[in-house]
Amino acid sequence: MQEKGTISIHTENIFPIIKKFLYSDHEIFLRELVSNAVDATQKIKRLASLGEYTGDLGETRVEVEVNKKKKTITIKDAGIGMTAEEIKKYINQIAFSGATEFVEKFKDAGDAKEIIGKFGLGFYSAFMVAGKVEIDSLSYQEGAEPAKWICDGSTEFEIKEGKRKTRGTTITLHVNEDSEEFLEESRIQGILDKYAKFLPIEVKFGEKEESVEDGEDKEGKKKWKTVKKDNIINNTAPIWTKSPSDLTDEDYLKFYKELYPFSEDPLFWIHLNVDYPFELTGILYFPKLKNDFEMQKNKIQLYSRQVFITDEVKDVVPEFLMLLHGIIDSPDIPLNVSRSYLQSDGNVKKINTYITKKVADKLGELFKKERESYEKKWDDIGLFVKYGMISEEKFYEKATDYALVKNTEGKCFTLKEYEAQIEANQTDKDGNKVWLYANNPAKQDAFISSAIDKGYDVLVFDSPIDSHFINHMESKLEKTQIKRVDSDNLNKLIDKDEKRELVLSDEQKESLKEVFSKSIGNENFKVEVEALSPSDAPVTITMSEFMRRMKEMQATGGGG
Ligand code: ADP
Ligand code: MG
Repeated sequence: MQEKGTISIHTENIFPIIKKFLYSDHEIFLRELVSNAVDATQKIKRLASLGEYTGDLGETRVEVEVNKKKKTITIKDAGIGMTAEEIKKYINQIAFSGATEFVEKFKDAGDAKEIIGKFGLGFYSAFMVAGKVEIDSLSYQEGAEPAKWICDGSTEFEIKEGKRKTRGTTITLHVNEDSEEFLEESRIQGILDKYAKFLPIEVKFGEKEESVEDGEDKEGKKKWKTVKKDNIINNTAPIWTKSPSDLTDEDYLKFYKELYPFSEDPLFWIHLNVDYPFELTGILYFPKLKNDFEMQKNKIQLYSRQVFITDEVKDVVPEFLMLLHGIIDSPDIPLNVSRSYLQSDGNVKKINTYITKKVADKLGELFKKERESYEKKWDDIGLFVKYGMISEEKFYEKATDYALVKNTEGKCFTLKEYEAQIEANQTDKDGNKVWLYANNPAKQDAFISSAIDKGYDVLVFDSPIDSHFINHMESKLEKTQIKRVDSDNLNKLIDKDEKRELVLSDEQKESLKEVFSKSIGNENFKVEVEALSPSDAPVTITMSEFMRRMKEMQATGGGG
């Protein structure tokens, strides 16, 4: 049996196009070929479990090898294999029709970038790094003959009798001169670590040296020796694929450390698991944020059936959820896709909504069930919740039930509780509730004390997100004003229209005011003298809320 043929497509040679445009990252070829090997292996295992295949399964790991001398990379599996007919069907026709479609669309597209990446060409991505590709395969089917396919990167292919004696497929890539970086072991190891870390079938890449104990010497000291062990890339059963009821807190924490070895323990986590209307599993961790927002972003990894796709999840999760860490695994997220395509994808939108709801519900549940520990973690959770409330209306609505405000004594209130708390005493003459807050309690101590003496409550809003949060809450809460405790005289902050008895005469007040204004010498500050009783601090020096916010905006280069 020997056959030569032409891969039937109407377009001219598509390989240069694949090579140039398909993926910005050429390293993807290895992900594609290893996942094909894993797919084929899973298929034979399934057939065996169904009793459809009764032969010996044998060693089923996938092996990747690099031969620097021959300039080849091989990917070997013991999967279902392919007959010559199947190679023609799956590789020449079906896989190629995807490629052809890609080229057809590509030719007509005004904006090439729109199209590039929409088609996962799988097998053919091999030609991004190889001039010649060979397939050696033996199908699992009884009496099957081994087959060999060779293609040199033109539309010509050759198929002939093969030599493979055991079930499965070997793909051999003859690496291009300009792709020789992929003949470096460290490069391949790096790519496998990135894409294959959690594949469901063991992937072996050479051997590695490991130190093991080797008895004791005469003085009773431990001896060590180095042994060679198979270098297995992956953890085949990562915990997100398991049922939450089979997992302990330790399992979740251990997995977190596996993902982010240098991070502090997370606060809590959510195990995601849906199968309708889309399939999705995963674990999202709430990290300790510690105000370094930017550092914490972009740590969610996106997988499709345990194959790593990207850690650019911008379009899959809402902006504020990008502060979370962890894994999302969904076969329903299109793989090799461009940005604009992701954004318009129906599943991606649904997933986005689902994750937001899950996170909102989890927070609600924590608050209800474990309010005490929730309050303890509020400094970390709060940053995240506030960010979410500001940026996502749907989340705001849910979060109003469990968003907390904290006063100078460290007591926490929900928004509703707080309204009730201040209703009686902290309203102005127009019936507005007035929230007082400090953003730097140590420095504003005098103002806080005098407010508390008056029976008022003072909140603490001292994180970077709080000024935005305050602006947002003011626009949201009805008949509520939020004022910084040192932004004006207390009686003006909460203007109750009450009769006051002055201790100082008008003249005394004027002369005091002059003395203070002169010595400060800055127009942005307002000096007021207004004492109601001898115990009041008679002079307050304030900067108006308006002036202060203006200044803050200038300092941060514009409003937010
Ligand atoms: P996809 O994996 O999305 O189907 P590919 O282009 O990666 O597309 O592969 C095309 C087809 O070739 C696969 O669906 C499969 O039938 C066959 N194939 C590829 N690699 C192997 C392999 N290692 N073992 C058996 N079949 C394979
Ligand atoms: Mg594939």
